[in-house]
Amino acid sequence: MDLRSHYPFWLLKHGIVKTYPSLNDSILTEVVVMGAGITGAIVAYYLCRAGFKVTIVDKRHIGQGSTAASTCLLQYEIDTPLHKLMDIVGEGNAVRSYELCLQAIHKLHRIASNFKHVEFIAKPSFQFASFGKDIKDLEKEYALRRIHGISEVQWLDEKDIQDKFTFKAPAGILSRDGAQMDAYRLTHSLIHSAMRNGLQVYDGTEIVNIKHNKRSVQLNTNAGHTITARKLIICCGYESQNYIPKKVEELYSTYAVISEPFEQGKFWYKNSLIWETATPYLYLRTTSDNRILIGGKDDKFYNPDKRDAKLPLKTKQLQHSFNKLFPVIDFKSDFEWAGTFCNTKDGLPYIGSIRQRPNTYFALGFGGNGITFSEIAATIITDLLSGRKNNDAPIFSFTR
Ligand SMILES: Cc1cc2nc3c(=O)[nH]c(=O)nc-3n(C[C@H](O)[C@H](O)[C@H](O)COP(=O)(O)OP(=O)(O)OC[C@H]3O[C@@H](n4cnc5c(N)ncnc54)[C@H](O)[C@@H]3O)c2cc1C
Repeated sequence: MDLRSHYPFWLLKHGIVKTYPSLNDSILTEVVVMGAGITGAIVAYYLCRAGFKVTIVDKRHIGQGSTAASTCLLQYEIDTPLHKLMDIVGEGNAVRSYELCLQAIHKLHRIASNFKHVEFIAKPSFQFASFGKDIKDLEKEYALRRIHGISEVQWLDEKDIQDKFTFKAPAGILSRDGAQMDAYRLTHSLIHSAMRNGLQVYDGTEIVNIKHNKRSVQLNTNAGHTITARKLIICCGYESQNYIPKKVEELYSTYAVISEPFEQGKFWYKNSLIWETATPYLYLRTTSDNRILIGGKDDKFYNPDKRDAKLPLKTKQLQHSFNKLFPVIDFKSDFEWAGTFCNTKDGLPYIGSIRQRPNTYFALGFGGNGITFSEIAATIITDLLSGRKNNDAPIFSFTR
């Protein structure tokens, strides 16, 4: 699967941080993690800390799938607003999903602070009403978040928005708890760190066949070797669909543009993450080297050639939308990229096992909150493998 165009910003910024050998023998391990993007990295890190003997394999280099293309906004707000999610999965599960995303941001913050070269910046998140007709739903959302005490939220009216953000919008919700990070770098750091707890790492190792036995799994690699393990964790991002008997993902194309650096780096209120109520939504963040990132203009198709061909047009459109909000900021595009993206029926990820695939767990951080979902998946799977009950697991199960 072609997950992204060639030059996402963080990949160019850091290059290939580290390469690992490919697997050149048949091995036995306790747990094998398939896929070394941000999800596989957190899963492996947690499992190694819990004392498991873990091997991680990837057919690409580390972090070179969707993780390299991620724009890395961390929000506890799921793409499906709380009031809509309640209608789909019930009030308790909806609220708990939001709370788990909030906890995941804080947990990722603590983890990232262990690594000197991994950027993680906590900052507010601001969602504005794209149109006057969206105010009613946004008010409902604001009330629910306050009732359930999810983060600290503030209602902004037109004047507040003008004062804090300088653009015109009818209303919005300012949330205290958001963050931006560097998922590509964190992936490398987690894997490197987990090696101290025994993690074995093989890149350039494609799994071409999986046999799910009663007490083990047997994986065949492209080089003709075998990995035999007690448990398999599939962290193959959007390519995980290949291993699931029913279709769970809707594929989209998405686009991102990052500006040349500005001389000064204060653009709007606390350089908050900004997004809107429209679908698909436009989103903005800044970087620590004084750039502005704009993302969105999603298309509802998976066709990498068409996606990449549309990049010049999408760059213009993203820039145009930005100029409408901030006419005095002279945004000059420096890097543009496109990626494949995926949503589920309710905006929640799929985490856990499938009856037809014994000894196998899936950690699928689908949706706009992919990275926070990766952390939730790692927590749940570590609990399940450790024999601990996890009361949140049913919220994300395949049978929900
Ligand atoms: C443009 C863009 C912007 C985004 N912005 C955000 C954002 O702001 N916030 C957010 O939370 N999320 C965002 N996301 C989503 C987020 O990036 C993803 O959820 C996350 O990167 C997925 O990580 P992953 O490790 O699950 O998948 P991946 O990074 O794709 O890793 C999966 C790995 O599995 C490997 N693999 C697959 N099949 C095999 C096989 N057969 N054998 C061996 N290895 C295999 C692949 O090579 C790959 O490296 C964005 C995504 C895109 C594309």
